Amino acid sequence: MNLWFTETENSNLAVKYRIKQVLAHKKTKFQELLVVETERFGRALILDGAVQTTIADEYVYHEMIAHVPLFTHPQPQKVLIIGGGDGGTVRETLKHRSVEEIHIVEIDPEVVAAAKQYLPELSSGFNDPRVTIHHLDGIEYIAGCQNEYDVLIIDSSDPVGPAVGLFQSQFYRQAARALKDDGIFVAQTESPWLNFGLTLPEIYHNIKAAFPLTRMYICNIPTYPCGLWSFTLGSKRYDPLEVNPDKIADLGYRYYTPDLHRAAFVLPRFLQDLL
Ligand code: SAM
Repeated sequence: MNLWFTETENSNLAVKYRIKQVLAHKKTKFQELLVVETERFGRALILDGAVQTTIADEYVYHEMIAHVPLFTHPQPQKVLIIGGGDGGTVRETLKHRSVEEIHIVEIDPEVVAAAKQYLPELSSGFNDPRVTIHHLDGIEYIAGCQNEYDVLIIDSSDPVGPAVGLFQSQFYRQAARALKDDGIFVAQTESPWLNFGLTLPEIYHNIKAAFPLTRMYICNIPTYPCGLWSFTLGSKRYDPLEVNPDKIADLGYRYYTPDLHRAAFVLPRFLQDLL
């Protein structure tokens, strides 16, 4: 069989995956949802034509978005995840024994349903008693929160469609208000090589305006366009660079390590210049 899925980044760049099978394909109220079995990366969740996660490399993104902020906070108890409907981020967050309560605000119930059906490796945490899922828009949800969360993780899709507002100044100011006085915020902040609507410096500066301390960190994700991916952490008190590596417990990782916690914040020159 010669069946391919093509992710088109722009008029000059596309990435192709040979696929074995289409498992689900529908238009939800919010986006086009596709689950395919790829030859190289196993099952993949694709929203509006963009690969969100694949079984073969999902651990890179999910470990880095969860453990960096959760180990920067000395005692994270209450965590909010916005987006994250595939379940990978909540699975990693649940590994922290101090965490007592996790709220997931995922706008699209069909993403959660597809993850439960086709991506059990990621979605196993949804049924944990510490987890509550709200099918609401994260922008509206956050407007009603004040001084509530220790850690806030924005595990969103690209800044197009329902996720646009999750990358804007007003949202980041409200996110800061939703956190306690020593709270920590982290967001996936896209590729340093490509722009999807907003540029990386715009996103970074919008976050920087809302938090006393802002730091970007990076990792390499083969199925995200151009590979190199950024996260931006905003903090009211704790500095991720001051975390003692000896205090980072081994919770079972495949990418994250105590040394990488620090090393991920070392940015290549072109990215420093971009910011
Ligand atoms: N790891 C992924 C990436 O960077 O490509 C993100 C995956 S996760 C599946 C992204 C989720 O964010 C989607 O399921 C989407 O429905 C959700 N989302 C987008 N906009 C949202 C909003 N305004 N409020 C809550 N969830 C939102």
